[in-house]
Amino acid sequence: MTDKSLVVIDDDDLVGQLVVEAAQQVGFRARAVQDFEGLKTAIEPGDPELLLLDLVLPNVDGIQMLRFLADRECKSKIWLLSGFDPKVVQTAERLGLSLGLNILGALTKPVSVSTLKDELRKQLRQAGDFTPEDLKRAITEEQLFVHYQPKVRLAGKQEPADPNKVLSLPVEGDRFEIIGFEALARWQNQHGALIPPPKFISAAEDMQIIDELTQSVFRQVIQELAQWKARGTGLNVAVNISPALLADLDLPDFLADEAMAHGVEAEQIVLEITENSAVTEDPHFMDVLSRFRLKGFGLSLDDFGTGFSSLIQIYRMPFTELKIDRSFVSEMDDSEEAFTIVQSIVNLGHNLGMRVCAEGVETPSAARTLTNLGCDYAQGYYFSRPGLMSDIMAQISAVPAMDLYG
Ligand code: C2E
Ligand code: MG
Ligand code: MG
Repeated sequence: MTDKSLVVIDDDDLVGQLVVEAAQQVGFRARAVQDFEGLKTAIEPGDPELLLLDLVLPNVDGIQMLRFLADRECKSKIWLLSGFDPKVVQTAERLGLSLGLNILGALTKPVSVSTLKDELRKQLRQAGDFTPEDLKRAITEEQLFVHYQPKVRLAGKQEPADPNKVLSLPVEGDRFEIIGFEALARWQNQHGALIPPPKFISAAEDMQIIDELTQSVFRQVIQELAQWKARGTGLNVAVNISPALLADLDLPDFLADEAMAHGVEAEQIVLEITENSAVTEDPHFMDVLSRFRLKGFGLSLDDFGTGFSSLIQIYRMPFTELKIDRSFVSEMDDSEEAFTIVQSIVNLGHNLGMRVCAEGVETPSAARTLTNLGCDYAQGYYFSRPGLMSDIMAQISAVPAMDLYG
């Protein structure tokens, strides 16, 4: 199924040819068919990587076609093509999914060639080194594991009234207090290759199995936290939450119940949501975010600076932390523009009552600049690369806060 083949079925010959040309230009083997019989013949030798289905054909409707594909247990990724009312298309999408088909979504006709090529290129990249079945198996067979990256305090002291010892991370002769970790999903396939998260996370989103993936990561994090708690250390871990999950009104309860069942406090967990996805008027979104906060989870606006949120949106959303995107942090020392952006984000976050964390800190000079700007926390290769908790903990010691802050 990674042969990069594509079949488009559309009774309009022009649409078929347009799709075939675009697909061939980006590297697919593509063919067009015009009716149901043509489709049956085209998929006879095996399921193509991608199927583009026009929902309205002369002698058969799209729903009948979806049922046929489901009966055949078709494994192709499917895009629906339609100039129809979006509601009709959504119903067809839902039906396809409920039949177990791998529906990617719908493309509205007329489709522009450039949009089509962009979408096809994305699919090619995702096809990469694994099939959808590999990823599904990885999740169900628990081949996914978690790397942790320390988040350190740059500015400000240990919050008052915390009598605990703090975790100290040595870095080039200096020592930093660890205030938490970010959990990053890792997947090592059966051949031992590590597959990059952006690749398998977006594939899981497309395949609508991102909830299983997130649950697997979340459970592992909870187990880790529970083990540390039993040893007397209250760690704090951030988990990335895909925007695709924020329409799920049951998610806050699921995560809170999971934490409680293992004696972990919601306050020990920060949920990271990328800025791009957070900027939406969807009322469910606000509902889910607010309930996360009410249950005690921290909320962090990830990759901040790359999206298009307005001040009023940030003000209204219940985030507790802004994470400055690493593209600005890595250029901050060479580009005045990047420096000004970082400085403005630190001030904005503080003025709105949030903590600010910088991502992608790779040099001592970036760490110094951020400290001078009053940025609260930082994460990056300079302090530590993400790794197994056991490896990271081997470098860390628990010391009285006095030792770090005098
Ligand atoms: P992110 O949440 O912004 O995570 C930070 C990424 O920056 C991580 O990449 C981390 O390894 C990398 N990084 C950290 N410090 C440095 C540095 O100093 N320099 C550079 N160049 N990179 C640094 P990673 O692990 O490849 O993850 C990429 C993205 O995949 C994450 O971006 C996050 O959006 C997503 N992701 C990872 N795990 C999960 C997960 O469990 N669920 C979801 N939904 N998304 C995840
Ligand atoms: Mg993150
Ligand atoms: Mg980020």
